[in-house]
Amino acid sequence: MGEYEHRERALVIGGGIAGLVAAWRLQQAGVEVEVLEARDRVGGRLWTASEYGPFPVELGAEFIHGDRVITWRFLERYGLRALDDPSQDRRYVGMKGRVFPSEDLSRPLGEGIFAPLARASEAWFAAGKPDTDLATALRWWPQEEGIDLTPQLWELWRTLASIGWSADLEEIGVYGDVEATYEGDGWRNWRIVEGQQALAERLAAELGTSVRLGCAVERIDWSEDSVCVVTTEGARRGDWAIVALPLGVLQSGAVEFVPGLPAELAEAIQRLSPGYSMKIVVEFTEDPWTPEIGCLFVTTPHGIWERPGLGFAAPEPVFSLLVGGSDARRLSAMGEEDAIREVVQALGAVLGQDLVGRIRQGRVVDWGRDPWCRGGYSFVPPGASGLRARFSEVVGGRLVFAGEHTSVERPSTVHGAIESGLRAAEQILEFRAAVTLGS
Ligand SMILES: Cc1cc2nc3c(=O)[nH]c(=O)nc-3n(C[C@H](O)[C@H](O)[C@H](O)COP(=O)(O)OP(=O)(O)OC[C@H]3O[C@@H](n4cnc5c(N)ncnc54)[C@H](O)[C@@H]3O)c2cc1C
Repeated sequence: MGEYEHRERALVIGGGIAGLVAAWRLQQAGVEVEVLEARDRVGGRLWTASEYGPFPVELGAEFIHGDRVITWRFLERYGLRALDDPSQDRRYVGMKGRVFPSEDLSRPLGEGIFAPLARASEAWFAAGKPDTDLATALRWWPQEEGIDLTPQLWELWRTLASIGWSADLEEIGVYGDVEATYEGDGWRNWRIVEGQQALAERLAAELGTSVRLGCAVERIDWSEDSVCVVTTEGARRGDWAIVALPLGVLQSGAVEFVPGLPAELAEAIQRLSPGYSMKIVVEFTEDPWTPEIGCLFVTTPHGIWERPGLGFAAPEPVFSLLVGGSDARRLSAMGEEDAIREVVQALGAVLGQDLVGRIRQGRVVDWGRDPWCRGGYSFVPPGASGLRARFSEVVGGRLVFAGEHTSVERPSTVHGAIESGLRAAEQILEFRAAVTLGS
């Protein structure tokens, strides 16, 4: 009695899915946690609009990619439901005033629509060629395979890079692409019926008062003894910090580390890329396309139109466009109204209709300009393979990093971010166990 008992305390910086999962795991293990989140909501890149109708409109992450990924464990825990996305069985391409099934382009290659991009990287890597960009590998690979590289195929691949990497083919590194295997995940896409953000909210509800919203971190002072985090709401002290900030935020220097991070980690932060992505949601006065189209890959801009209400009871004519890379940057520079007009005009040109007069409302979600994201989802440029792994090193026994960009095998996904949060929590628990044993 009366003896001072030190309860370990971890500060989790960033209340996206990676930070929340890390905090949840630590809390379960009896570590006191506090999540410091800049926004007035949790979830980060999990952000759902529910005002469009009786279905979720995802402003950030849309799908669970795969039926065997870790996300399902949390869906089960919280009783959340999933919908096998019907659009993936009715994928169309809209190009130069023509709409046709995506299989017309992918069937001659014998595999799924994304497969050639992976095949080209793997073949380049296996041939022992030096790291290069995906555009180079994709020009070389069809020659090796005797495939006719048509302009349509090339444009489709640009679209897949834009949505799959939030980047252009010329920016993506082949070796980095080979690192990310997504092995065993499965290939079907699922929507969370209650919306992706519900996942984050359920976790936050379990964490209760340990989650601080509107609390932007400005500086992280760390030493071998403790961590002090300076926020807009005052300073916080802890034994450890889990830094679950997006790569774009780390790269921007908006959060200062004192002392600076080790050179190897600082190099990884600067040389990996946060990507750039944008969602544009448009509600039309009536359906712009016929029911056989599930989703539509387009090339002006390079992106994909989805119908979020597809598979739900009463789908309103609400559509969303995901664009990445240079097309997203260009649209971002145009301003919201012009960007909406341009993409709707381009959609109309593909479908042979004037759709601009049929816009009921539109909205741009510009993740690259969002100060708490500053990107899209991360990718590895040429020459930067191996750098993601550097985030798994515990810095000075006090700082641990989490987030989608820290996942080597499943980056750029919700499930990769979840795994990174669990990994970060385990690192702290292992560290704690080692110290307890040693003392
Ligand atoms: C448009 C888009 C579509 C996507 N589609 C899919 C998809 O279909 N399927 C899929 O699996 N993945 C998808 N992703 C990727 C997925 O959303 C991310 O991989 C994942 O959500 C990242 O989680 P995170 O916790 O690492 O980062 P974040 O969710 O970005 O969390 C980081 C948190 O840190 C906070 N923060 C930032 N700065 C500060 C600060 N200074 N102080 C305190 N807090 C701060 C942020 O507000 C945020 O809450 C998509 C992403 C985007 C942008």
